[in-house]
Amino acid sequence: MKQFNELGLAEPILRALTDQKYTEPTPIQTQVIPAMLDGHDIVGIAQTGTGKTAAFVLPILNYLAQEGGRPAPKTCRSLIVAPTRELAVQIADNVRKYSKHMRISCTVVMGGVKPGPQIKGLSRGVDILVATPGRLLDHMSTGALNLSSTGIVILDEADQMLDMGFIPAIRKIMAKVPKDRQTALLSATMPKPIRALAADFLTDPVEISVAPTATPIELIEQKVMAVAMADKRHVLTKLIVEDDSVDRAIVFTRTKHGADRVTKHLVQAGLKAEAIHGNKSQNQRQRTLNGFKEGKVQILVATDVAARGIDIPDVSHVFNFELPNVPESYVHRIGRTARAGKSGVAISLCAPDEKPLLRDIERTIGKSFGLPGMDAPRQRKPNGGGGRPQNKPHRGKPGFKGNGGGKRSSEGSGRSGRGGQRRAA
Ligand code: AMP
Repeated sequence: MKQFNELGLAEPILRALTDQKYTEPTPIQTQVIPAMLDGHDIVGIAQTGTGKTAAFVLPILNYLAQEGGRPAPKTCRSLIVAPTRELAVQIADNVRKYSKHMRISCTVVMGGVKPGPQIKGLSRGVDILVATPGRLLDHMSTGALNLSSTGIVILDEADQMLDMGFIPAIRKIMAKVPKDRQTALLSATMPKPIRALAADFLTDPVEISVAPTATPIELIEQKVMAVAMADKRHVLTKLIVEDDSVDRAIVFTRTKHGADRVTKHLVQAGLKAEAIHGNKSQNQRQRTLNGFKEGKVQILVATDVAARGIDIPDVSHVFNFELPNVPESYVHRIGRTARAGKSGVAISLCAPDEKPLLRDIERTIGKSFGLPGMDAPRQRKPNGGGGRPQNKPHRGKPGFKGNGGGKRSSEGSGRSGRGGQRRAA
């Protein structure tokens, strides 16, 4: 395994990594960092928990360290687009950690908060701009920001952007960035529209995927309980109250109202629970999230959209109050526990009318929960019948260890355009 100091990163970056006590790069970092330093575009198939943020942030910092100079007013030298506000804030936090020994500016542009301070920040010019698509377009249309000198663009969690209907916005944004930029697209999965996006906006990308591994899902103890819808709140509360090992848990609900109702019930039972979903203000969401990270909030009740992409260490339990409509979401949800090699428990409450959803999940993960009235799952045929191709990456959280690198399926020629950077020999 290569060490950080063998990847070609500038000294202040290495010092910040030592401060973070990162001993060695994760597999995605080992592959993405040198390829980006060589000026390649990147398609990275990896999800949260793999260390993907540092994989693209560190090369950006290296680019800024190499280039020196300052951004022109109302421009950004690098741009990271993320689907959710929480993820944008989290990425910016990471940027600040990794750049603590450098003098660079980082601004977040996102909806749900007043635009004034963002406009002020942009007016001076920004080294690293982290943005959600809607507000970014707003600032572009009012002239608060132009992307004419943006050298690196990162599209993070591209499949989530697709789910949230952001692809047209992304295309508008990409049309305004200089052609000789460097672009990296990160996504947990590669549905067709994301492939098309990559084909349209990336040049000879190096494709890097964190290899599928059996470890993450196996580290999670998965249980399903048959519970009538009307009994779920009561059963959930009992499960949490009576089990001392429930230290920090996320409860997933399908709807925002459902999240509020469940939270109310848990609070009435004396638990420290708070909800996070799209109807909450950005400040409320961030406060809840911080409280959860700090341990002041024990139970986070969340909808899928609100929770995806967020890195919360040490979640002991994930509860699926309702089963998700899409089986992939199940894997995303339970992947919030058992992170960084730890074990975790995922408990799903399945009402009778949710059995078809459970069957889909069983088929996707290739495991039967043996719930009464359920047949054993039939494995999908490879690439058969338009289902998920079998060679797609396993989407349980790939741990840092033992997921053995990935593949580089296309080797473009290194470009030395504006965003291109070459490692010092
Ligand atoms: P991410 O997948 O970017 O959300 O990162 C998941 C977590 O891994 C974050 O808490 C990072 O701070 C942490 N992390 C990233 N890279 C490393 C590394 N090389 N060693 C240890 N922890 C890391």
